[in-house]
Amino acid sequence: MANKELTLEKFKVLLNHFNDGVFLIEDGVFVYVNSVLSRLLNYPVDEIIGHKFSPFVHEADRDKVLSYYTARIRGEDAPQEYEFRVLSRQGEAIDVLINVGIYHDKNGSQTSIGTLKDLRESKKTMNDLARSREDIKSILKNMPDVFYRTDSKGVVTLMSPSVSNILGYEPEEMMGRPLSDFYCTSSEREKVLAALKKGGGKASQVEACLKHKDGSKRWILTNAYMRMDDDNNPAGVEGISRDISERKEMEDRLLKLSRYDDLTQVYNRRVFYSEAEKQLEIARRYLRQVAVLMMDLDYFKRVNDQYGHHAGDQVLKQFVGICKDSMRHTDFIGRTGGEEFAVFSPETDQDEAIKLAERICRRTRESKLNVDGEVIKYTVSIGVAIVGKTTDKIDNLLSSADKALYKAKASGRDCVRSFDSP
Ligand code: GH3
Ligand code: MG
Ligand code: MG
Repeated sequence: MANKELTLEKFKVLLNHFNDGVFLIEDGVFVYVNSVLSRLLNYPVDEIIGHKFSPFVHEADRDKVLSYYTARIRGEDAPQEYEFRVLSRQGEAIDVLINVGIYHDKNGSQTSIGTLKDLRESKKTMNDLARSREDIKSILKNMPDVFYRTDSKGVVTLMSPSVSNILGYEPEEMMGRPLSDFYCTSSEREKVLAALKKGGGKASQVEACLKHKDGSKRWILTNAYMRMDDDNNPAGVEGISRDISERKEMEDRLLKLSRYDDLTQVYNRRVFYSEAEKQLEIARRYLRQVAVLMMDLDYFKRVNDQYGHHAGDQVLKQFVGICKDSMRHTDFIGRTGGEEFAVFSPETDQDEAIKLAERICRRTRESKLNVDGEVIKYTVSIGVAIVGKTTDKIDNLLSSADKALYKAKASGRDCVRSFDSP
């Protein structure tokens, strides 16, 4: 039976199997340490036992530890568990957590019994964690792109600080609100969601229009992916967005420059031809008539010579205005040459086309332009051609209208002639 008792021998072995250091201190002197504590301090057990406790405590923590120790011995209020630093044989300061109790024996002497937990690993982990949190914070703060996260309902749960440079909102103003609130239209938000769906949960380089806090539009390029929860259900979206408004504006300007005439803001020759070609194709498919008017200002060189090039420019602009006021909204106009313009008029027969041309011709004749106190009068000649149920090419149509224009010029200008007319 004796073997089954907890002998002191067995108890010491047990204490050496603890993860933490175990000690007994009487009158400020170690009377027992387990092997874990001896390893922690890097002293053999017999170089600790019989020695005072305080030299093993880091100088900076000595007052605190001693005052707690004395208070506990006296039965005063002092924490049972606290952190301090012990000093190893090499002088290394080691963070430990002490948990200490006081044992009062029959003879009135008091023994401090406690454990010391080595905090180096957990401190390191905590520091690493804090450092990586700081790193992430600093990356998010300093990167020009915006990192965001939404939950499964599309509500913003994370927004990086750079959003204020792009949309004018502080991240806190956006958090808790549906991300859809910040898109120009719901279809813009749909673009990102559709791209995610199409890409199997990944969307790359999606361009969408968002609203700045001041009401202006911002073009944003987003790379996003769908987050999944543990059950593989969609848990929201995470993405990185970039402001591409400047690039977009530049693209728009370039597109406009490439499509429109700078002075009069109507289609340039190339775009007029390609748009006319498209419309002619539709007209052919549905067997509809279309008309083309070729218009050339009369004696325009004289306008320039007499009033100057700037005045000539004003005339060109005013003439375009007259045309636009006379056209239907389905008609379109292009500048095909210096003082030459063309109107494409879908679903228009010969009579209607001539009426339109006559209207433009008359209004031009009746118009006046005041430039620098001078009144400028000018006229236009117009050639009209129509395409019927035949399969005519745009080049043929325009050259027919050109021939009609030539006839108008030959007939004394300021008049309308059609291709069929004598
Ligand atoms: P016609 O009745 O036979 O058409 O005579 P016109 O003087 O109008 O014809 P011409 O082809 O001899 O001259 C056209 C003039 O249009 C010459 C050119 O300087 C002027 N012109 C072309 N583009 C512009 C422009 O952008 N601004 C101005 N102010 N003038 C232009
Ligand atoms: Mg001309
Ligand atoms: Mg001319």
